[in-house]
Amino acid sequence: MSEVGFIGLGKMGLPMAGRLVDAGLRVRGYDPVDAARDAFAAAGGLAVDGAAAAAADVVVLMLPDSDVVDAVLFDGGVAAALPAGSLVIDMSSSAPLRTQDVARRLAERSIAFVDAPVSGGVSGAVAGTLTIMLGGDDPAVERATAVIGTLGAVRHVGPVGAGHALKALNNLLSATHLWATSEAILIGERFGLDAATMLDAINTSSGRSGSTQKKWPDFVLPGTFDSGFSLALMLKDMRIASDLAHRLNMPVELGDAAVQRWADAREGLPENADHTEIVRWLRGATSE
Ligand code: NAD
Repeated sequence: MSEVGFIGLGKMGLPMAGRLVDAGLRVRGYDPVDAARDAFAAAGGLAVDGAAAAAADVVVLMLPDSDVVDAVLFDGGVAAALPAGSLVIDMSSSAPLRTQDVARRLAERSIAFVDAPVSGGVSGAVAGTLTIMLGGDDPAVERATAVIGTLGAVRHVGPVGAGHALKALNNLLSATHLWATSEAILIGERFGLDAATMLDAINTSSGRSGSTQKKWPDFVLPGTFDSGFSLALMLKDMRIASDLAHRLNMPVELGDAAVQRWADAREGLPENADHTEIVRWLRGATSE
């Protein structure tokens, strides 16, 4: 039985680490939140009391962002605790240029690295139906796939950093069409149309997207706003994508406008708001 370390047992990490346990791996899991470690132990994992104690031949990270990834690996003692020849899999949605730097620093210690961010949300993490965007060289990707392949469909999209770049671009797109969809539905409602009726028609028409097919019907219409993906993390991903565009000297006017609108909504909503709550904010902003 192989042993794997898993650091970051949050909304995504907990069900993902649980699936690795169910797949027969021995998983050493760490999160600073006691309740997360308790839930992981209840799911059959071995909860350890520090990040460095999760060191194993393969370590998976599912952390908020590149700042935390850097801190855990290089200040938290994980890189120092890993043996030469081990593999780090960063499944967080991190910033691609910083990811390339992390990979270089780990390579100096003879530690392999792949970026493997995911799309599919908490429901995809629970069901093992995530899309996993892998960046890395072939041997590391093959080794990573053997460990995380049960979490969803693996797509090898390029060298180190490619997965994180693609994930940020996907979320810039997803956030932009959620905003555009929400504006369109609120306009229709003010005209007297019913939101569910609009969505039914749009979903067999050219305006459909993940926003019309999943986010509005599952989280907005019922008023639950419980997708499990925070507004703060979505905005983080959008900024990663727009920073990348600026560094590549690409014009990104629509993207920058979307980032600004989402930042405005973040200011006007509670700190821990779900990303689908932009609709609440839009309703308030358009109610006068
Ligand atoms: P989350 O905030 O629920 O989980 C992050 C976990 O990291 C928390 O449990 C937190 O305690 C832990 N953590 C923070 N600092 C730590 C440290 N120093 N050491 C160890 N653990 C630490 O976030 P999430 O929604 O699970 O997202 C995790 C990553 O996955 C993010 O990069 C996010 O952008 C991405 N993502 C999220 C979703 C989603 O639907 N929630 C979907 C796809 C990708």
